[in-house]
Amino acid sequence: MRADSNDPADDHRAAGTGEAGDEHEPDVTALASLLASSERVVALTGAGVSVPSGIPDFRSPESGLWNTVDPMDVATIDAFHRNTKGFWDFYRPRLDMVRQKRPNPAHEALVELERRGRCDAVITQNIDGLHQAAGSTGVVEVHGSIGTSSCTGCGATWTLDETASLFGEHGIATCTSCSGKVKPDVVLFGELLPAAAMERARDLAARADLLLCVGSSLEVYPVAELPALTRDSGGRIAVVTQGPTPYDEVADVRVTGNVATALPAAVAEL
Ligand SMILES: [Zn+2]
Repeated sequence: MRADSNDPADDHRAAGTGEAGDEHEPDVTALASLLASSERVVALTGAGVSVPSGIPDFRSPESGLWNTVDPMDVATIDAFHRNTKGFWDFYRPRLDMVRQKRPNPAHEALVELERRGRCDAVITQNIDGLHQAAGSTGVVEVHGSIGTSSCTGCGATWTLDETASLFGEHGIATCTSCSGKVKPDVVLFGELLPAAAMERARDLAARADLLLCVGSSLEVYPVAELPALTRDSGGRIAVVTQGPTPYDEVADVRVTGNVATALPAAVAEL
């Protein structure tokens, strides 16, 4: 995220903090028009969609998460194998936190779009499963999901709730069949992205006539390349997020408001 204060978007954001929020209405109306005139809408979502649900943006320096721990020590596939106890000391509270979180109006707006036949799929960087919890179908999780865990030995899998019961006194989740190490099905730093999900995401982006990008800075590979695929195929791009993105200049609509209010407002105008 850029820190310079000369970004015109900063003025826009500042103007949007007023109580009425009227400054956002033209953008929201433009987004509604774009949605109404598109036939193959695909949503692409990032951490900003889950922030209103109380889930911090773990990759953002502002989250403060990495102030006390080095991600290379706890959140890599190497750390999982080398220091499994340390990995789970860090990751177990995240599992417990996500279990308690619920979808917010941004998730629900995407469900409503799908219900109206205006959203074919949701590609997400999020691992929290809140799109599915809200009711979206056809969710493509390019960073995996915290919703299940798997044994690295025999491949057995458990749901999020079941995973909580796999911890012994040693604080490590262990397979009930083979005593192997159990790992959450999220893509850790140093792990390959799930090939099938990425192929599906690229295919959806290339076929979309509108890629609705919500709550993502669009800076992290592989999501960063998807809007370009849509544009190269003649599709349009809408960006709904609070910070700057590399696609702001080429987006057909750019909404800088809160995703949990802007997205439902646009759907309500359809
Ligand atoms: Zn096993």
